[in-house]
Amino acid sequence: MPARKRTCVYQIIEKETNICCYVGSSFSYIDRKAQHKYDSINGSSCPIHEYIRQKGGIHLFEFKVLEYCEEISKTELHLKEKQYINQLKPMYNKLNPLKTHQDSVEWERLRYQKNRESILARQAERVTCECGKTLRKHNLNYHKNNACSLIEKDA
Ligand SMILES: [Zn+2]
Repeated sequence: MPARKRTCVYQIIEKETNICCYVGSSFSYIDRKAQHKYDSINGSSCPIHEYIRQKGGIHLFEFKVLEYCEEISKTELHLKEKQYINQLKPMYNKLNPLKTHQDSVEWERLRYQKNRESILARQAERVTCECGKTLRKHNLNYHKNNACSLIEKDA
């Protein structure tokens, strides 16, 4: 079987936060991925495509196969998909039975928390200025403009 025709359940992850946004299944994974890309650019009104557009593009998202399924019926495949939806609770599935107001609140909270973690991790990164001083990355600009010994003093 050609790889592009492989059947699987997959997820779409937001790279920034590593949160699963969408779970889908397809008998032709590569084609489905291309379709998602096309739809996210060309104005599909599916929640996931709107979200991808709103965030800035599909390059900010990652596709991951959850499970390859050989010789499976459509019904079985959809059942598997549903199991993963229940487990991963993606926010942008169109017909997500879990998408109550409570879930939305919980999801936003999780998203905020994950986002915060990645922002803090970025801030904690240390860099070395040309003057030799090591400091936190987010302080570098301030340092260069105010405290660095290499600042050229205006005459
Ligand atoms: Zn410096």
